[in-house]
Amino acid sequence: MSLYVMKFGGSSVGNTERMQRVARRIVEKQDEGHQCVVVVSAMGDTTDELIDQAMLLNPEPPAREMDMLMTTGEQISMALLSMAIHQLGREAVSFTGWQAGFRTEPVHGKARIMDIIPDRIQAALDQGKIIVVAGFQGMTPDGEITTFGRGGSDTTAVALAAAINADVCEIYTDVDGIYSTDPRVVKCATKLKEISYDEMLELASLGAAVLHPRAVEYAKHNSVRLVVRSSFNNNEGTVVKEEASMEQGVVVSGIAFDKNVARISILGVSDTPGVLAQVFGALAKEGINVDIIVQSGVKNGEADFSFTVSECDRAVAVIESIKDQLPYREVTSEDHLVKVSIVGAGMISHPGVAAQMFDVISKQGVSIKMVSTSEIKTSCVIDGNNLDEVIKALHTAYNLDAEQQVFVGGPQDRR
Ligand code: ASP
Ligand code: MG
Repeated sequence: MSLYVMKFGGSSVGNTERMQRVARRIVEKQDEGHQCVVVVSAMGDTTDELIDQAMLLNPEPPAREMDMLMTTGEQISMALLSMAIHQLGREAVSFTGWQAGFRTEPVHGKARIMDIIPDRIQAALDQGKIIVVAGFQGMTPDGEITTFGRGGSDTTAVALAAAINADVCEIYTDVDGIYSTDPRVVKCATKLKEISYDEMLELASLGAAVLHPRAVEYAKHNSVRLVVRSSFNNNEGTVVKEEASMEQGVVVSGIAFDKNVARISILGVSDTPGVLAQVFGALAKEGINVDIIVQSGVKNGEADFSFTVSECDRAVAVIESIKDQLPYREVTSEDHLVKVSIVGAGMISHPGVAAQMFDVISKQGVSIKMVSTSEIKTSCVIDGNNLDEVIKALHTAYNLDAEQQVFVGGPQDRR
């Protein structure tokens, strides 16, 4: 007997028929002799619709009330799924995040989990019940309801798996697993059998939307064995674990891309200590995330530097607003760029992987505007127009093409 945490994303429980399918799937697992704790997301586009409704009434709704509203989406799912399981003749019980014991820090909209006290879950498991927990929610020590941020139900599942010492945490979604790249762009993308936490973390942070980065972080930290698989078929999914046993010669496991990149350059800044802190401090204060930062050579006591952001206009406005404190000659920006990244644990031990990437991209007649690297990743910022060709060429160059076209389910479960 194993203890499973099974998480179903919004599209997997998007309508009555899908709910029933999920209920059957859970019952089958129990029939195999396992214990099941289920985590659900809100049905389909429910969360987006709730946000739209709020915006109609108040474009800047109080964060506390947003959390009160958003948590209802998952509560609908948990109750309906529990009913569907009862209809199949099994005992199920649903719990909100706080009933399940999720204690969070007192922050609305992006609370971190402080502690999980899974007493009620344990008691219900001991009674042979199937437990259904509402995703992405918890409660502060003061009794206020919080959410974990968009896509946070993955984190609920992983954190719960760690807290109750589950054998496996299965993330059911609408694709068959983690792919070498987005199958909508490269038709012969391959499904990976396994991938390491670190590679997955890079891919998830780089925009592969199947798993929430925080959930991967949590899984790595607590050594939770993760499986990403489809709720629409019985295909084996992708296992995410400590060390993926690398097939010989596999250096790059995946290619990710981010289509929403802008480059901002500040030219002619005086080269004095504290300048970078001033610029990035101002951006951070406005909540603007900066990704790649490049400082070029200093001439006559003046430096130029560039960085990438996703919010171009806001970032430019911030830089312009500090011109008095930070004299510079000019600020320029370039929008509609993309960041293409190759990820692979094998890069650590194989020199020349980045050079090959630059070569492949240049053979597509595309120039590279910026580069950044980590131990297991190389990213290039390029013009957005040639993205598909570049990804296809890289996919082939790193031997990632499947023999045959893979079947991919519906649209990717984005949240
Ligand atoms: N329902 C929430 C969202 O759409 C949380 C989740 O699905 O993970 O972001
Ligand atoms: Mg999701």
